[in-house]
Formats: sequence, structure tokens, C-alpha cells
Amino acid sequence: MIDAKFGTGAALRLLFLSVVCRGVSSGLTLATNDTPAVRDGAVADFVLHAGRIWTGDAARPWAESIAARDGVIVRIGDRAAVDELRTARTRVLDLPGSFATPGLIDAHGHLTGLGETLEQIDLRDATSIEEVVRRVTERATDLAAGEWVLGQSWDQSLWLGKELPTHEPLSRALPDRPVFLRRVDGHAVWVNEAALRVAGVTADTKDPPGGKILRDGAGKPTGVLLDAAVDYFNKHLPLTSRDGLRRQFLAAQKLCLESGLTGVHDAGQSARERDVLRELDGSGELKLRVYGMASPPAGREVEFVSKPPPAAKPADRYVLRAIKMFIDGAMGSRGAALFEDYSDDPGNRGLILTEPELLERITEAALKNGWQVCTHAIGDRGNRLALDAYESALKKVAVSERAVRDPRLRIEHAQLLALDDIPRFAPLGVIASMQPTHATTDMRWAADRIGAERCKGAYAWRRFLDAKARLAFGSDFPVEHVNPLLGLYSSVTRQDLDGTSGVFMPDQRIMLDEALTAFTAGSAYASFDETQLGVLRPGTQCDVTVVDRELSQNSARQIARARVLATVIAGEVVHRKD
Ligand SMILES: [Zn+2]
Repeated sequence: MIDAKFGTGAALRLLFLSVVCRGVSSGLTLATNDTPAVRDGAVADFVLHAGRIWTGDAARPWAESIAARDGVIVRIGDRAAVDELRTARTRVLDLPGSFATPGLIDAHGHLTGLGETLEQIDLRDATSIEEVVRRVTERATDLAAGEWVLGQSWDQSLWLGKELPTHEPLSRALPDRPVFLRRVDGHAVWVNEAALRVAGVTADTKDPPGGKILRDGAGKPTGVLLDAAVDYFNKHLPLTSRDGLRRQFLAAQKLCLESGLTGVHDAGQSARERDVLRELDGSGELKLRVYGMASPPAGREVEFVSKPPPAAKPADRYVLRAIKMFIDGAMGSRGAALFEDYSDDPGNRGLILTEPELLERITEAALKNGWQVCTHAIGDRGNRLALDAYESALKKVAVSERAVRDPRLRIEHAQLLALDDIPRFAPLGVIASMQPTHATTDMRWAADRIGAERCKGAYAWRRFLDAKARLAFGSDFPVEHVNPLLGLYSSVTRQDLDGTSGVFMPDQRIMLDEALTAFTAGSAYASFDETQLGVLRPGTQCDVTVVDRELSQNSARQIARARVLATVIAGEVVHRKD
């Protein structure tokens, strides 16, 4: 068992390791006849050999191998140097010809939403209304009488005519049972007459603030409702049980790990979701690093951030210190707040979901108590209002009054900006948390919605980088696919996967290392973790994503085609492709 080459030194190392592994810190005297590294305690319990590693560390960007102990990198460099720290007990992952990067972190996803897609009807690839109706009817045959049919991810831009649907085809197919189908962006629902009846939504129902009931010429609801109007259904929808949430989190975690993600910023968590995540972390079932953005209870947002966030321990995989707010809706359903009318909907300038004065008050309280504010802002007006609210709160709460000197306020999506607002991010220290695949999905209709001129400030990563803004990249899964490699591909190409829709604003493409940085160090910075995550160097966490081929700027197609071979979190292989 003991490697003859190392002799008794190895035996002592084994003893040392087994002691360390049991977590005992007795006054064990270490062997002195060993390498200096071992005398310093730097033996490895995990070693990764990859073909090539992009470390994200400007001082030493490339390596072959990594050695870690207790989840932390102790050496990174060439294979021989790392093998010096290997013992018979070291777990070794040898993946010749592979390519590794710091663990990819999705800075904006929805974990239970992703878990839900596996349980509800997934309409992502439905190319017609008839197809949707067929799948909904089919699902209904498996359900008890009166039970809701739930589905998601329909997208009218894939259908002939690209018009928003109406309740009629659903009502004809299922007159007695409520049907509730979320649009792919999560900002609109399509329901049938039975669902409108259950929720009591009629021609007399008013549009709530920040929401809209789409209506026909006679004022009757068409069956599509936007943003805050969706809340009319909330208390009637079946509540996911605690077990259901557990199941959804674990299913989502599996997909994330298989996709090479080592961390996710979960954008909008209910109190029940936070409880379940804490439980999963406590029991060791949570492997993925989850940075939570709480959804504060409506009307009690200021109160929610008026006490400090829960204290986190270094080993916690679930950390909560952010809140998620919404200033506006989304562009696909024309709820994003614009300065001028939608190009394809005269008279419509979108919706404001949170009054800017309230956002400012929430931000002030958050600054004083140590919460990070992450505000969804999509339209140019939405982004301006969010930046104004942040700027004014930052002015009012002096650094000496802040719980955190550098509060790293975030704008989620930062999708469409007036060009002169982009340079405001860097001096305010506001992070642009963006999703590259939104650009290459929305490119099909973005110019219809906002026209060519406004597209200059749409999904404008290059402009943000040129203005020295910090980027954190993600996918907004399940709105987009969870696979971060698709985001890297979109970042460098601004093309969809088959390349048939051309290149969307080609001057906004960025380099692969810039995109990788946004998906690693950028996301880590956005969760205050940049000393631990997002870069591979001695002292940082051993979180690594390993794929089956070199990722390169010059063969962008290969980025999208790459397969994840292994995902490593804190020196533990949490996913391995068979
Ligand atoms: Zn989102």
C-alpha cells in the first residue's frame, strides 16, 4: 500500500492525513525527514490532472495540475510539481486532454424554477398554439378532476404570426379545469377561462400597480396577464410542499452540477425556500454553492432589510445576504419600462413594478444593515430609475454609516441602456449582472420591439467593459438553458446556435477570457467571494469545471459543443461524466 519510493516518510504522511481527516488537531509531531512542503503540512488529499487549466490568475494564467487539501488549493502548476504532494491516499482525477477553468458560477438563475420545469409541462420548443393545446390536454388526462394544469416556457415569438395568444383555444380544449402557463420570461401568464373564473378576474377587474390584464376590444380579459397581475392567481395555485421544494432544489442542483456549475446566485427566494435550503445545507445534501437573493415580503421590504442578514460560517454552501427587487417587467412581454414607446406597440412604454422612491428607501436601509440590493432592470427607463435610486441612496448613507464599505449594488439584466447611463455603473460601484444567452435568444425580435437605434444599448457587454463596469454573467435559467458554455458561446459570437439569425450587434462581442472572467471572478466578486472563488491559485477554494476540449476564441462552435467531464467543489468531485 505504501509507495516504496517514499518509504517511511509516506507512512508518516498517511498517519498525518488520517489524523487531519478525522479533524483532530492533537500535538502530533511531524516527521522532519520529509520535503519542506510536507513539513509545512502541504500534502494533497485531492489532485486534478487536466490537459490544460486556465487559472484566471493574471500572474500565472496556465497550469496542468492542481493539488488541494481540505478543499483549498495548495499548489497549482505542472504535473510533476503537483505530484510531489501526492500520497497513496490522495484522490486523483486524471483527465488527460481535458480543459479546466475556475468553477463556473451562474450569477442569476432560479433553482426551484429549474426544478419545476422537470415537473410541469415544458413548452419551450412548442412551435404553435395547437402544439401547446395538445400537450396541455394530454397532461390533463393524468390529473384529478379540477386539478390545475401547470406549464411554462411558451414563447409566442416562435409561432406563426408571433402574436400573444388568447384563452379561447385553451378554454375550448379544457372548459372545466384551470390552466396556467407561464411565458418563458416568467413575466406573463396565459390562462383559460376556468382559471380566470377561479381567480375572479373579469372585465371589471382593475390592472394592479405594476401589472396589466390584456383585454379585447370589449374590455374582457384575453387570457394573458403581465407582471403584478399574475398575483391574482397566487392564492389559488397549488402550493408546492416542503418536500416538493426539496425535490426541486435537488433536481436543479443535479442539472447545475452536470452543467459544470459550482455556484449559483438564486435570484428571488421565498422564506420557505430559504428554510429548505438551510436544511439541505445542514444535512450535507447541498453541494452547489448557493448565494441567495431573498424576495422580501411585499409591503415590508424596508423592514426586511432593517436587521442584518444571517451570519454565515466559512463552510456554508448556502449564504444569504442579498435581496431581489424588480423595477420593471420584461421586453418579450413588453413590460420593460422604456423612455419611448415600444416600436411594435405604439402608446406602450412598459410597467414600473417598484416605485423608485421605495427602491431608494429600501437601498438606504440595506446599506445601513449590510444587505446587497439586486434590482431587476430591463428597459432603458427601468435601468435609469434603478441607477438614480442607487445613486441617491449611496449619497445619503455615508460610508461611515454603512455596514459594508463597498456594498456592490447590482442591476440584474441591465438589458437595454441609454448609452449615457452605461458609464454610471463603474463610479457607483454597481455590478451589471447580465445573461449572454438572452441576447442570442432575443435577437429574433429585439429590433421589432425597440428598433435599430435603441439596439445600440441592448445587451451591450463590450460597452460595459469599455466603461470599466464590473460584469457578472449568468443564464437566468430556466428562462435560458442552464448550460454556461452556451453563455460563453453567445458572449464571443453573439450568434444563435445554428447561426441562421446572423450576428447581433457584432461590435458588442467580447473575448473568451473576458467572458470566462465574468462567469468566474465576476460572479465571485458579485457575491463578495473573490478571495475564495473565481480564480485558481494557492489559498483559493478548489472549485473547478473540467470540459472535454480546449475552449478557444478561434473555434467558438467548439465552446457550445464541449461536454462537461467533471465538476469539482472544494476538492470534491461532485459530478463525473461516466
Ligand atoms: Zn431571473
